[in-house]
Amino acid sequence: MPTRYLLRVAVPSPIRRLFDYLPPADSPLPEPGQRLRVPFGHQQLVGVVVEQVPHTEDAPDKLKAALASLDTAPLFDPLQMAFCRWAARYYQYPLGEVLSAALPAPLRNGDAAELPSQTRWQITIEGLGLPEGAPKGARKQAQLLTLLRKGTRSAEDIAAAGFSKAVLKALTERGLVEAVSLAESQTFDGPLGEAPLPLNAEQAEALAAIPDTGYCVSLLDGVTGSGKTEVYLQAIQRQLEAGRQALVLVPEIGLTPQTVARFQRRFKVPVGILHSGVADGGRNQAWLRARAGLDRIIIGTRSAVFAPLKHPGIIIVDEEHDTSYKQQEGFRYSARDLAVYRAHQLQVPLVMGSATPSLESLANVAAGRYQRLRLRQQAANHRVARLEPVDIRNQPLQEGLSNKSLQALKAAIQRGEQVLVFINRRGFAPLLMCHFCGWQAKCPRCDARMTLHHKPYHLHCHHCDHQRRVPQQCPDCKGSELHHIGAGTERTEAYFNQILPDVPVLRIDRDSTRSQKHLNAMLDQIQTGAPCVLVGTQMLAKGHHFPRVSTVIILDADGGLFSPDFRATEKMAQLIIQVAGRAGREDLQGQVLLQSHHTEHPYLNLLLSQGYHGLARQLLQERQLAELPPFSFMVLLRAESKRPENAQQFLQQARQQAELLIPANPQFRYLGPLPAAMEKRQDRFRFLLQLQAHSRAQLQQFLPQWIERIEQLALSRRVRWAVDVDPQET
Ligand code: ADP
Ligand code: ZN
Ligand code: ZN
Repeated sequence: MPTRYLLRVAVPSPIRRLFDYLPPADSPLPEPGQRLRVPFGHQQLVGVVVEQVPHTEDAPDKLKAALASLDTAPLFDPLQMAFCRWAARYYQYPLGEVLSAALPAPLRNGDAAELPSQTRWQITIEGLGLPEGAPKGARKQAQLLTLLRKGTRSAEDIAAAGFSKAVLKALTERGLVEAVSLAESQTFDGPLGEAPLPLNAEQAEALAAIPDTGYCVSLLDGVTGSGKTEVYLQAIQRQLEAGRQALVLVPEIGLTPQTVARFQRRFKVPVGILHSGVADGGRNQAWLRARAGLDRIIIGTRSAVFAPLKHPGIIIVDEEHDTSYKQQEGFRYSARDLAVYRAHQLQVPLVMGSATPSLESLANVAAGRYQRLRLRQQAANHRVARLEPVDIRNQPLQEGLSNKSLQALKAAIQRGEQVLVFINRRGFAPLLMCHFCGWQAKCPRCDARMTLHHKPYHLHCHHCDHQRRVPQQCPDCKGSELHHIGAGTERTEAYFNQILPDVPVLRIDRDSTRSQKHLNAMLDQIQTGAPCVLVGTQMLAKGHHFPRVSTVIILDADGGLFSPDFRATEKMAQLIIQVAGRAGREDLQGQVLLQSHHTEHPYLNLLLSQGYHGLARQLLQERQLAELPPFSFMVLLRAESKRPENAQQFLQQARQQAELLIPANPQFRYLGPLPAAMEKRQDRFRFLLQLQAHSRAQLQQFLPQWIERIEQLALSRRVRWAVDVDPQET
C-alpha cells in the first residue's frame, strides 16, 4: 500500500503551533512552501505547508482535509521558509502569522501567484532583412513589422495598436516574428542609465571594502551628504553586472521620492517598489517579480525584508538607526536585525548606512562583528552646518521662538534662502485649558491630553485617534475663556503666515502629508529654491535633500534629556543631527540653532563639542555600566486589560512561572510588573514585565518554555498580552 501523508500546516492564528490536515482531494500532494485553503474552526484560512508527515494509524479521525491547494509549486522556497521559521522563533510569534506577514495582502488572502504574461513579440533576423513595406500585398503585416522594428511588444500592446491575432499568426508562420520571454528581450548592454560619479578617496575605500559575495556586515558611517547613497549605488552596480539582485530597505518611501528616482535614473533595470503606499495589486506584482528575478532592484520599507529574491546579491539598510524598522504591534520584528540574519543565510554582503548609527550597531562594530566604513568628508556640494545652542531661559519667546532665532530666520529669507523650523508636535496646541478653573481637555480613553487642531477645527488624541468637538465653554465651570497653550506645527505655521505674509510657509507633518500628491507638490516647491519657511515634525529628518535650506531652527531639544526611557537621549541626538543635516548644502553657509532651557546639560555639551559620536561613546559607556542593551538582552511581556488588576495579576503570575524556570540572579533579572509609560490607553490599562539577560542564547532557550506556561494561565485568556523581543519602547 502506498504511504499516505498528512500535511503539517502553519495557519495564521495566535495559537503557537502547527496543525495537521489531510491533503486536499484531487490534487497532487502539496509540498512545503505551498499555500492551502484550510478549514479552521468556523473559518477558512490560508495556511502554508511546513512538512509532509507519514500518515500513522493513530491519527485522530477528526482530522480534517485541506479544502484546496492554492499553488502548483512552492511559493516560499526552502531558504525563505527557514528564514521565516527563524524569525518566528526569535520573536516568539506564531509561524503562520509570520508567513502571512511575509506576503502582500492579495497573496495572503489566497490570490493566485501569477504574473501577467511575460512574453514579448520580436522581429526575427529574417524579418529585419526584409525591405520596408514587405511583405508586399499584406498591408497589415507590413505595418506590424514596422512597429516591431522599433522594439518588442506584448500581445496586449499589439492588439491595442489595432492588429488582429491573425496578422501576428501569419507573420509568425512566415518566420518573420517570434515570441521571446521578457527577460531575454531586455537587450543587455549593461545596467547603467547614467554614469556613476567618480568617487572620492574615502568612498572608493569604502566601496572596495564591501565584498562581492559572502556574508559581511558593513556600517557605512558618514554625515548627511558624505556620499553614502553613491556608495550603495556603485555596490549595487557590481551586483547587477554579475546578474544578481539588490534589496534596499528605507525607512519611509513616501517621504523620499527623490531617493527612489535617483535609483531609477542611475540604472536601466526594472526596479520594484514594496511599501504600504503601493496598491495591493502593484505590491503583489512587485513581490512576484522579485521572486522571478525580473525586478533587479527592490526598494521597500520594513516588510520588504521578506521579499523573495531569485538571485540575491546584496542587502542595503539605509538610515539603519530609524525606529520605523521595528514594528510596534503584532509581529514585533526589527527589519534591520532580520536583514542581518537574512544576509548571513543568503551569504551576501549587507551594508547599513547612517549619519547617526544606533548604539547597537556601534557596539557590534566595537565587538568586531561589523566592519565600519567611515566617510568623514563632505561630498562635492555639501557642508554640514555647525550646531549653535540658544539659551532660552528667561527669554521672551514668540510662539516658542527666541529673538535670536527669529532674526536668523528673517535674515535668511531676506538673503533669498530657505529656513526649516523643527517642532516635534503636530496640531495647533497641545493643551486646551480653562482660564478660570484650570480644566484641561483630556482624552476620555487615555492618560493623555487632547491636542487642539485648527484644520479642521477639533480635539484629537494622538494616542488612540479619538476625536471630539471643541467645547464653546468650560464643561466644569461654564467659563468662556479657553486658552490654547503651547505650540504645534499648525500654530507656528499660522504665526509665520502672519509675520511674513509674502513668504510661503510649508507645513510637513503627518496631517499635511496624508496625500502623497500634496507632499510631492510641496517637495517640488522646495526644490525650486525660492525662499520659504518649512515647518515640520520629525518627518523632516528622514532623508530629504533640501539644497536651498541654509538655516535650521530646532525649537525644543530638551525632551530627550529627562525622559525615563533609557533610549531617549540617543534618539534625541539622532533627531537633532538628522534635522541639522538638512542645512548647509552647496554654496550656502549653514546655521543650526538649537533652542534649549538646559544648554549646560552635559549631554547637550558633548553633542555640541564632540558631535554625535562623542555623545554616543559616553552613552555606550553608561549602558555598559548599567548593563542595559546592547550590553544585555531585553524582553518585555506586555499586558493590557479593561481591569487593571487583571493585567497586573497576569504579569505577577507570569513572573512566578518565569522564576520557577530561572530564578532571578544578576545574569537574569526581572523587573515589574510596572505600569507602561502611558498606563491607560484606549480604555485599557497597560503594564509590563521586563526581563534582562546577559546571554541571548539563554534568553532564547527560556522564552518558549516560559510562553508555554503563560498560555496555561487562566488569566492569559482574559488579558491581551504580547512578547516584545528587543523592545524599542517601554
Ligand atoms: P548621503 O547619502 O550620505 O546623504 P549622497 O550620496 O546623497 O550622500 O551625496 C550627497 C550629494 O553629493 C549628492 O548630490 C551626490 O550626487 C553628491 N555626491 C556624492 N558623491 C559624490 C562624488 N564622489 N563626487 C561628486 N558628487 C558626489
Ligand atoms: Zn473652567
Ligand atoms: Zn486617547
